[in-house]
Amino acid sequence: MITFENVDVVYPNGFKGLDNINLEIAQGEFVAIIGLSGAGKSTLIRAVNGLVPYTNGALTVGETTVNPKNKSKLRKLRSKVGMIFQQFNNVGRISVLNNVLIGRSAVTPTWRSLIGWYGAEDKEVAFQSLERVGIVDKAYNRASALSGGQQQRVAIARVLAQDPEVILADEPVASLDPPTARRVLGDLRKIQKELGITCIVNMHHLDLARDYADRIIGMRAGRVVFDGPTEEATDAV
Ligand code: ADP
Ligand code: ADP
Repeated sequence: MITFENVDVVYPNGFKGLDNINLEIAQGEFVAIIGLSGAGKSTLIRAVNGLVPYTNGALTVGETTVNPKNKSKLRKLRSKVGMIFQQFNNVGRISVLNNVLIGRSAVTPTWRSLIGWYGAEDKEVAFQSLERVGIVDKAYNRASALSGGQQQRVAIARVLAQDPEVILADEPVASLDPPTARRVLGDLRKIQKELGITCIVNMHHLDLARDYADRIIGMRAGRVVFDGPTEEATDAV
């Protein structure tokens, strides 16, 4: 349901971040993108929700063509495509619950989200999302008071609250210790399996990708150099 056809990204300084990418990612797949720093993993993932504009080719999510220039189309696209980051991007001084409610702004009318007016249904969805990642007991804590692993779960719950079809995760476990990284990837895996949400996750370590992904895409210098089922990914990726 996500299709890249001959997609290039050329950055304003002329650097080619993506070079002729052709991919099809099915609904409900868990895909790990692997590669060294600078390989283009983040560029690839950010192209999908229009954070990085592509300069050539065609990129579609479901029936929607990604069009970074069209603000209302982009808003619609991003309501279906949630994103999480290495640094969690929570608002530290507000509660965990309010951080998760921010996710509802992607699906409630703009005027309501602008004034921070969330209804009973929004709150119910927010609590369900917190439940799913095991931190419902932290709902009224300040986000900044939580551990790294818990903060990343707040970010996952925020994205879940928008009822996404796709979750893009840009190095979501890069700043976590190995056991915590595994728990966070386990949460994403569970979400993908139970809710059928497509997960595209950038990471450095092939061993982690092997344990959680269905499919591995290896990148180097803006190109796909490996694409196959997890069992076939070797250390050469
Ligand atoms: P990865 O996520 O694999 O570490 P990135 O997608 O972040 O790689 O970066 C790929 C390449 O594109 C790197 O060489 C990086 O320096 C370059 N790059 C990233 N953002 C920009 C930008 N805004 N302008 C120019 N070059 C960029
Ligand atoms: P850290 O402080 O290293 O970030 P975590 O936030 O990952 O630790 O975990 C804190 C506690 O939450 C641990 O006791 C762990 O067992 C528990 N925990 C972790 N993931 C989940 C989950 N998905 N559901 C319920 N409990 C969890």
